Amino acid sequence: MSSSGIDRYGVMGFPVSHSRSPIIHRLFALQTRQDLQYELLQVAPEKLGSSVRQFQSTGGKGLNITLPHKTEVMRLVDDMSERARQAGAINTLSFDDDGIHGDNTDGIGLMRDLVTNLGLRLEGANILVLGAGGATRGILAPLLDAGPRAITIANRTLSRASDLVEHFSGADLLSACRFDDVATEDAYDLVINATSAGVKGETPPYPAAAISPQTCCYDLSYGLAATPFCQWAAARGAARSIMGWGMLVEQAAESFCIWRGVRPDTVAVLRQMSISAS
Ligand code: NAP
Repeated sequence: MSSSGIDRYGVMGFPVSHSRSPIIHRLFALQTRQDLQYELLQVAPEKLGSSVRQFQSTGGKGLNITLPHKTEVMRLVDDMSERARQAGAINTLSFDDDGIHGDNTDGIGLMRDLVTNLGLRLEGANILVLGAGGATRGILAPLLDAGPRAITIANRTLSRASDLVEHFSGADLLSACRFDDVATEDAYDLVINATSAGVKGETPPYPAAAISPQTCCYDLSYGLAATPFCQWAAARGAARSIMGWGMLVEQAAESFCIWRGVRPDTVAVLRQMSISAS
């Protein structure tokens, strides 16, 4: 609780200034008549442990954890949900008398947007995921559960993608490669950009041959104007190119539900933010 008696929440990341989570949680709080405050907390990697503990000791109730801390934060929790354990990454912390609890809502957030909001069919799909960081860890298990034909993880640093394939051992439809080595004989139905390149103003050599007129491109990043990845995908003739606003709102709703026990109406919030499924 804050000195004003209002329950405190926030998002910790580095950088974090681009995050729209404070706006979304304010809209959820208004809609569900909850009294809470939600802060933007820029925390460098070496300060993660002390900052989380300080937030907890000053009465904080919950945190969203964003890049680049989602893996590192695992060593700070007392227990974690099965989906966080499966992912090997945490994006939601809750604090209570029993300690620090970790969860991961990225996967369910993406699936609700892809399947419920956008109506995509993932069964039998050939999927390419660009990036192998904390966000990719969170989305892989539910993507695998959706019954795709294959999932390729392409990453700048091959070893991180290979580690993920190993982490999800047993999933023989999962493979890892560098951007240059993305196989293109079989067209991709879905290409997901889970790199943080756009946030940093960088444009990596995305594999152009992976895009066909049937490919739906989804960027986990989002912006007021089309992200560099969405612009790139549209210019190469992708069937659709969609920014990650829907996932952002859906994963936030799941965190909000964990903290407050009430599920906000995400469609209404997406509408309020003037964003709807495209
Ligand atoms: P992260 O753990 O820091 O991982 C970053 C990933 O991006 C790594 O795979 C990294 O490759 C790659 N990368 C960074 N700069 C690159 C460049 N210039 N060229 C090629 N690859 C580059 O970050 P994260 O937590 O996974 O988040 C990734 C993105 O997803 C962020 O933009 C984040 O905002 C977004 N996100 C959105 C939502 C949503 O709800 N919409 C949810 C979660 C995350 P290396 O391994 O080679 O370093």
